[in-house]
Amino acid sequence: MVSRLRSAGLAEIQEKLVAGVRLDLADGVRLFEARDLLAVGWLANREREKRHGARTYYNFNIRLEATNVCVASCLLCAFARLKPGDPGAYTMSLEQAWDKLRQRVHQPLTEIHVVNGLHPDLPFDYYTELLRGFKRIRPDIHLKCFTAVEIAFFADLYKMTDEQVLRELIAAGLDSLPGGGAEIFAERVRKKIANDVNKCDATRYLSIHRIAHGLGLRSNVTMLYGHIETAEERVDHMLRSRALQDETGGFQAFIPLAFHPDNNQMRKLPPPSAIDSLRVHAVARLMLDNIPHVKAFWIATGVEVAQTALWFGVDDLDGTVQEEKIYHMAGARTPESLTTREIERLIRAAGREPLERDTLYNVVARAS
Ligand code: SF4
Repeated sequence: MVSRLRSAGLAEIQEKLVAGVRLDLADGVRLFEARDLLAVGWLANREREKRHGARTYYNFNIRLEATNVCVASCLLCAFARLKPGDPGAYTMSLEQAWDKLRQRVHQPLTEIHVVNGLHPDLPFDYYTELLRGFKRIRPDIHLKCFTAVEIAFFADLYKMTDEQVLRELIAAGLDSLPGGGAEIFAERVRKKIANDVNKCDATRYLSIHRIAHGLGLRSNVTMLYGHIETAEERVDHMLRSRALQDETGGFQAFIPLAFHPDNNQMRKLPPPSAIDSLRVHAVARLMLDNIPHVKAFWIATGVEVAQTALWFGVDDLDGTVQEEKIYHMAGARTPESLTTREIERLIRAAGREPLERDTLYNVVARAS
């Protein structure tokens, strides 16, 4: 392997990794530019196995998008509708949202993942009641809800600070934050694909995660890739995530999200290739020495790529998901849910060891 790494131009990076020296921006770009994908994957796999061996995590969760009404108009988005009443716009009543959990109360779910559009007219107690109602139905369920973009929007709309919003949501039952809304931190790209006064910028996104970590919440960080961003901008995104993790240690997973071009204003772009997806996950594993998990969100990458990524730095496949809308409205042809048996089968078929986890990566033991 040493000679292969040398001919791939990766010998220096390999030496740094062995010596425990952090990779920098130039290293990250080199990993994106190296022609030999398998050499990059080999390095990432070694880092993955150092941390997790063959262990591969998934969880039994449900996703819920309570409204797709959103005052922002991000080019990247196929999910949002500008106003209530627009074709395809919906907002669940609290009862309808709670019913999604009630209908599954027999399932051994451990998590609800909620993200929404930025609705201009709902009162703040819609969100606090949403959480309280979920906890009334299943007091033990983990509520991973509202992106940093939503938290910033709530703060501006309801005239609170970001911290006040988080404190009120925590009092209502919020347990952690999902990583959505990060897109690409670099201003050049963010301005083009998510240019809206209602959408917080990278600094505020990171600041909200910093505050959340300080309040004892864990969170994830995502990166939307495969549109107009450069290799430098991808690596910059990873380095900004790494820097916050140095400060707080609150990120659990880095989640690359593949861009889907259908039904949005960027539909002329091709979707990222499988090769690119594998490389992004591998480079993330190599750059992010302080974030424990790299997750392949199979809804976005496709099941086969997510499965293959288990040899390219990935140790987590998200979960059963169920009810996903954001990617399916953008043309994802993946199934809307997988059963735990299906997830376990595809992990085993990849030669890895499946482990059900809860949101905080505690292993869930089930009586078989
Ligand atoms: S990406 Fe999020 S903030 Fe932007 S339009 Fe879609 S739902 Fe709204």
